[in-house]
Amino acid sequence: MTLFNFHKNTFKHGIHPPESKDETKGLPIKQFPFAPVIMLPMAQHIGAPSKIVVREGQEVHRGELLAKAGGYVSVPMHAPVSGTIRKIGNVPTISGKMSPGIFLEAFPFSTQEVIEGKQIDPDTATPQEILQAIQDAGIVGLGGAAFPTHVKLKVPEGKTCETLIINGIECEPYLTTDHRVMLEQERDIFMGIKYLLKATGTQKAIIGIEANKQDAADHLAKHLPKELPVSIKVLPVKYPQGAEKMLITSILNREVPSKKLPIEVGVVVVNVATTAEIGRLLPHGQGIQERVITITGPGVKKKGNYRIPVGTPLRFVLEQVGVDEEISEVYMGGPMMGVAVSNLDISIVKGTSGILVFTNKDVQRSPKIYPCIKCGACVDACPILLNPSKLGILAKFEAYDEMASDYHLMDCFECGSCTYVCPSHIPLVQYFRLAKRIVRRREAEKKEEVNA
Ligand code: SF4
Ligand code: SF4
Repeated sequence: MTLFNFHKNTFKHGIHPPESKDETKGLPIKQFPFAPVIMLPMAQHIGAPSKIVVREGQEVHRGELLAKAGGYVSVPMHAPVSGTIRKIGNVPTISGKMSPGIFLEAFPFSTQEVIEGKQIDPDTATPQEILQAIQDAGIVGLGGAAFPTHVKLKVPEGKTCETLIINGIECEPYLTTDHRVMLEQERDIFMGIKYLLKATGTQKAIIGIEANKQDAADHLAKHLPKELPVSIKVLPVKYPQGAEKMLITSILNREVPSKKLPIEVGVVVVNVATTAEIGRLLPHGQGIQERVITITGPGVKKKGNYRIPVGTPLRFVLEQVGVDEEISEVYMGGPMMGVAVSNLDISIVKGTSGILVFTNKDVQRSPKIYPCIKCGACVDACPILLNPSKLGILAKFEAYDEMASDYHLMDCFECGSCTYVCPSHIPLVQYFRLAKRIVRRREAEKKEEVNA
């Protein structure tokens, strides 16, 4: 038997925001049109930016290498369309910073076939060859983290990976990308798992899925190849269950210690869309040129799940799907952990899992912030058992060092659950984001002083 419904398994605390997935969860993935000009930032993953290897005026094929990895914690970049390199220069990014990048003008009449590279057979390749192939394909976490996947999969010496968890939770409201991938790309997912098991030396995998995607769990169970050591666990719906540490607790009842990685408890977690990309690309030796994105929200006319070339300008995406005239806010990612866009002249990157558009009437403009009434709702919501109320008070007094040393500020993974439940509208997660940035900067300055 491979399909389990473990409705009691869950992590402590968490919240239940409205799911808002009904409008797109039944819409099959559609191919998005190619924009006339693609804009590719080289800093779109965690780690060193990619290093450009093409020149202005050069013609490239879709899938061709445009930039090599800038180091071990980095990945290469491939051409999302066949076309001509029009310019190499700075490209705006969602952080507000500019990144070195490439402007690629698409050939208007090209077939846009993707070129193939060296194929990797999961049965005969060594773990190291698979890790190298994953890096060469430019694969990063497609759940939004954009951390280079080959680094995450490298099991440190002395450690063992007992269980590979495939994360099909997708607990962020509105997003249905992973849901559709599980319903439509089961072969890619199973092929991806084969590569991942070999790369990590693991004997078994578990796919974690929330109960609001029971159809996806049934679909995967029905098509599961007999020889693959995979089981499927359906978990109760709760935010933020898609966070690695929460998911490990829900599935295996193991706690990953503070400041440690899942491998400490013998686990590696990989997002299901990332797994599908590995299974889709490695048998053909191809690199990532596109990804599946949910485009939704009350301000969008043609809502859906679209396969969109990386580097497609956001303005082009919004023109194609049609947006309300009263558009107020655009988010990249989900409403809980996504980022509000301040400049529409940015482009889709590998980590973009969703685009949400809200209108003036959907967004409550700067609600009045009231003092903390010590109701404890934030404490009851925090999945890692922090005290957001106390942290919030310390943040107001700019006691950042105390927040970190006495109240585990750096463990906060910015899920936003505390902010969501706060009746006083205190923007706790925004305070914690800023505080973490300041603590990191101070630590870096201290290190520099020591090394000087
Ligand atoms: S944002 Fe941080 S403090 Fe708030 S609930 Fe999430 S983990 Fe806890
Ligand atoms: S939820 Fe808001 S009001 Fe209640 S204890 Fe936390 S910070 Fe204070």
